[in-house]
Amino acid sequence: ILPNSAEARDVAYHFHGYTNARAHEENGPVIMETGKGVRVFDNNGKSYIEAMAGLWSVAVGFDEDRLADAAYQQMCKLPFYHNFSHKSHGPVVDLAEKLISMAPVPMSKVFFTNSGSEANDTIIKLVWYRSNAMGKPEKKKIISRLRGYHGVTALSASLTGLPNNHRSFDLPFEGIKHTTCPHYWKDGQDGETEEEFATRCAKDLDAMIQAEGPDTVAAFIAEPIMGAGGVVVPPTTYWEKIQAVLAEYDILLIADEVICGFGRTGKMFGSETYDIKPDIMTMSKQITSSYIPFSAFMINERVYEPVADESNKIGVLGHGYTGGAHPVGAAVALENIKIIEERNLVQNAAETGAYMQEQLGALLDHPLVGEVRGQALIAAVEVVPPTGREAEFNPGVLGGRLNALMAENGVISRNMMDALAFCPPLIITRDEVDEVVDILGRSLNQLDTEL
Ligand code: PLP
Repeated sequence: ILPNSAEARDVAYHFHGYTNARAHEENGPVIMETGKGVRVFDNNGKSYIEAMAGLWSVAVGFDEDRLADAAYQQMCKLPFYHNFSHKSHGPVVDLAEKLISMAPVPMSKVFFTNSGSEANDTIIKLVWYRSNAMGKPEKKKIISRLRGYHGVTALSASLTGLPNNHRSFDLPFEGIKHTTCPHYWKDGQDGETEEEFATRCAKDLDAMIQAEGPDTVAAFIAEPIMGAGGVVVPPTTYWEKIQAVLAEYDILLIADEVICGFGRTGKMFGSETYDIKPDIMTMSKQITSSYIPFSAFMINERVYEPVADESNKIGVLGHGYTGGAHPVGAAVALENIKIIEERNLVQNAAETGAYMQEQLGALLDHPLVGEVRGQALIAAVEVVPPTGREAEFNPGVLGGRLNALMAENGVISRNMMDALAFCPPLIITRDEVDEVVDILGRSLNQLDTEL
């Protein structure tokens, strides 16, 4: 690391999350400088295909001038206003109307926040508020899933079902429970079919509700496809079975669409892909292609009505963010959604996504690949040790090395406990998919040689 370089100053002044600080001091950062299409370029001019769309989030590519222009125009017109009490402004009104019109199931209202974590945090507070408003103060527990990811604020980190986000923070909060992760390849038992596994997942949820007391459970939150937990694609009948259990006990369903929303799974929302009928939907990331922090959630009448009816009695919903409903974020979101629609990017996700799944699937023959899974433009390739050498490798080691080789070879992927994730911008072409898959094949061979 050269003295006074951006790398040196990053090490000196910038405290990163999700990294080992001492390792960061030694290795230094990768400093990204520019973006074009599906590619980003670092400060040494090295080009990478961003096969993770940043953080599962840049739908329209890394150089969309229309989004920059939408932000600029809104900044010139009204750079900031809030939505506390009765204040509002054009961009959020237009966006709220647009989102309601796009919802896969009837929705009533949209609430605006700044990040996926904040949106989920707010949802849980709203669910608690609703239970109080309904005179059911005991109905407050929330069930999420092991390996689900819902954010990092104290409350949304509690919803998250990954040890890394609980350990050392004394989380999860009481009243937040985690049920079975629907990953058949990893958690299916010997002789159990995928269908039987889905039934077991639903039974586990039922048993948890029974054990906690059905009158104490307010909501269940889940991603249609689990993202950061390893791109877990649920068994075909999983969602049908889960929804039947929730309906039996009058438990709200929250679909966390932060990754799946806006085309990722080949339909506008993951809920459409899996026939999920949520009461609440969380949206972020691809809503603005992450050009600007922004998030929102929609609620249906079942959620809204008790809250609206009773708010005069128990007091107003004491919740809102200065930057929530930001006019610049809303203007960028509107333009971004317009681009997704005009350029048929959801259809591209379905078609080029099917091609990507097929091409990645061909790698299943490789001795270091255990499973390839995914839907449209989200996928994971599970790296496994050579047969008979399982005991030699700690979880995450092989995936970590493969991920590093990918970056050296010019593709940014992401390793999650040996599941290498792919979630490219929705604009990706077949040729670019071929490049990613070629480099993955080459990197797997390099890893094989190293072992
Ligand atoms: N929900 C899901 C499904 C996510 O993948 C993420 C982030 O990766 C979040 C919530 C949290 O979003 P943020 O990082 O914007 O707080």
